[in-house]
Amino acid sequence: MTDTKVRISKELYDKLKEVADRSNKSIRELVETAITKFLLGTESVGSDAEVKNVKVVKSWRLRFPARCPICGEEIKAGSIVVREIVELEDGRKVNNFYHPDCYESSSDSALAKLYVRKRVLERTIRGLKKEADRYVELIETLRTEYDMLSIKKEVYTLWKDYKNFILHGKDDEKFDEFMDRLNDLLDKVTRLEASLELLTSDKKDKVLLGEKSRTGAKKLVHHR
Ligand SMILES: [Zn+2]
Repeated sequence: MTDTKVRISKELYDKLKEVADRSNKSIRELVETAITKFLLGTESVGSDAEVKNVKVVKSWRLRFPARCPICGEEIKAGSIVVREIVELEDGRKVNNFYHPDCYESSSDSALAKLYVRKRVLERTIRGLKKEADRYVELIETLRTEYDMLSIKKEVYTLWKDYKNFILHGKDDEKFDEFMDRLNDLLDKVTRLEASLELLTSDKKDKVLLGEKSRTGAKKLVHHR
């Protein structure tokens, strides 16, 4: 390839130099890449850099011939095209020029499909989150119900043992054990009271659930 000189403005040269220094490339390399890219689209410029942003100009009058990346045909200068400006993470910008029809039929419908999928996913996530919240509430309620049940069972056993104590034995060792068990029970009831309060003061529907579980607990004990 023989070389030819081209004159460009001082400002553009300074800008090129700045980009060249930053990207560790020669000015020649940059200029040749930029011109090839501008004339032939992005197909001849490979890039591994991540896309940072994409801007789309819906109707842009082409100043030079370009190639549509979708159908591969050349687009004449002066045609109205869709211009896509892809900003890369490394600071470079890549221009793509599309036939408006090609752009509408491919990328728009792909975007629309993606958008619909995103909406469906968001809805599903919202539903799952609601369900998860419901389960958390249910678990809290069940845990309280379980605590209540075990306390009732303990009170019943304690009462039975106390009756036996009164009727028979009455030794001091047994009495101390009773006091310990009674104090234990008092602690448990206090803790349960606190968690019940938390459960019922949070939300209105939590109160409803709590009421339901309390009746449920009562019933279970009566069946015993
Ligand atoms: Zn096309």
